[in-house]
Amino acid sequence: MPSAHYFPLELHASDDDQDCEEQEQLVDTDHRSSMLSNQYNLHYHPQLADYDNDNRTTELGMGMAPRLSRPGSSRRRYWLPMLIIASFCVIFYLMFSSQALGLGGSFNDGDDDFEPHSGQGKRWVPFPYQVSEFKFLTNEHKIENQNSSSSHALNESLHICSESHEDRRLYMQDKPHSAYAQLPVIYFVTPTYPRREQIPELTRLAHTLLHVPRIHWLVANDYERCDTYMDMLLNRFGIPFTHLSSPMPHKFRSTKPAPRGVANRRAALQWIRQHNLTNGVLYFGDDDNTYDLRLFSEIRQTQRVSMFPVGLIADYAVSGPVVRDGKVVAFLDSWVAGRRWPVDMAGFAVNLAYMSLYPNVNMPYKPGYEEDLFLRSIGLHIDQIEPRGMNCTEVLVWHTQTKSKKAPIVRLEKKFLDGRSNLGALFRSLKEMGVASVSDTEGPLATISKNGKGKAHSYFLS
Ligand code: UDP
Ligand code: MN
Repeated sequence: MPSAHYFPLELHASDDDQDCEEQEQLVDTDHRSSMLSNQYNLHYHPQLADYDNDNRTTELGMGMAPRLSRPGSSRRRYWLPMLIIASFCVIFYLMFSSQALGLGGSFNDGDDDFEPHSGQGKRWVPFPYQVSEFKFLTNEHKIENQNSSSSHALNESLHICSESHEDRRLYMQDKPHSAYAQLPVIYFVTPTYPRREQIPELTRLAHTLLHVPRIHWLVANDYERCDTYMDMLLNRFGIPFTHLSSPMPHKFRSTKPAPRGVANRRAALQWIRQHNLTNGVLYFGDDDNTYDLRLFSEIRQTQRVSMFPVGLIADYAVSGPVVRDGKVVAFLDSWVAGRRWPVDMAGFAVNLAYMSLYPNVNMPYKPGYEEDLFLRSIGLHIDQIEPRGMNCTEVLVWHTQTKSKKAPIVRLEKKFLDGRSNLGALFRSLKEMGVASVSDTEGPLATISKNGKGKAHSYFLS
């Protein structure tokens, strides 16, 4: 994420985290994870926070009844802190209910020059059967489901458009397919969305992944339908893949900043859960990043969670762990904003056996905090992090960003777009890819030239 684009929400008092970390050092892993998940619920799920507070107030009320009968100063001593706690709860509730639902904030995303969900004339097929309701039973969903009749329902959907579990590549990095049979599989999750640059981005990424053995590419498209062009593209590479349709819930689309790629990553997590995958490594790899092939050998042996620097992030052009004596001790990132794990989505990998120990794994719709909250939901402790890339001295992944532009309409008479030249087929293909379209009447007139001179279309095409 371009972390610097977001303002800090000042979510949690750092003391809280500090306390929690100190306590964590005294408990075993299981106990630790349940503590963290409690803390997580309390901080990020206002409904649960309320519930906990109600209970706590009742308990306190009962326990303190005799004391409350005391006069004067001692009464003030107990009421004042309770009043402060209560007002904090109200403030937290107001902040989180709007932020978690993506309703609050007037942050500027700085990237609005295209219509991400226009479809741009792509060919699509309707789902052959009813879109499956997304049943991602995280705490968030349990709450959302309880409120499903209200406008708070997330209305997520996940549909498997096409998939192939067959690896049709014969050689990778000069070795036959069979040489890699024993390696754990990397589940490479790529959120993507329709815009002019989508097919070029995926093509470039595919040509990196073609060199990576034992990989399953989960391409989750932020689009309501199955894009048949994408099916064809993914099939052609011969890399095992799953093409999911996982549109961003409607209510988040117009929010600024929007939770980019969250619905897709959640759908991929759901797919992993549905397939009960407890072997292999999960990595979130956006469609526009640049991946060094060495990254894949580094993350493949992840035991719990591995981390490494990501280049071109925010103000320091890098984000990643600070490592001393082979251990992660802190983080370098120009946007801290209260995040316990101030890392980029591409800066970590997770072992699936480890992740399966945390049934409440979640990635909430909270722009800027997706990585932090995801890593909190799997009970991570700093001592457990495995630094990669020569103890985080190398950059093996870059947060490159592609300049986005609106798909143009080119004025070119349709009567000429038949078999007499290449242009008909070329523009049909560009339209399918969502790159450009033609019109008889709209857009700038296409210039067709020879020897440096433009001529009427009929001169070359009739
Ligand atoms: N993305 C998406 N839907 C959107 C915007 C983005 O699925 O509406 C995907 C995008 O293809 C990318 C990831 O989410 O893989 C992160 O988005 P982007 O690269 O635009 O964000 P940035 O890198 O600037 O954080
Ligand atoms: Mn990006």
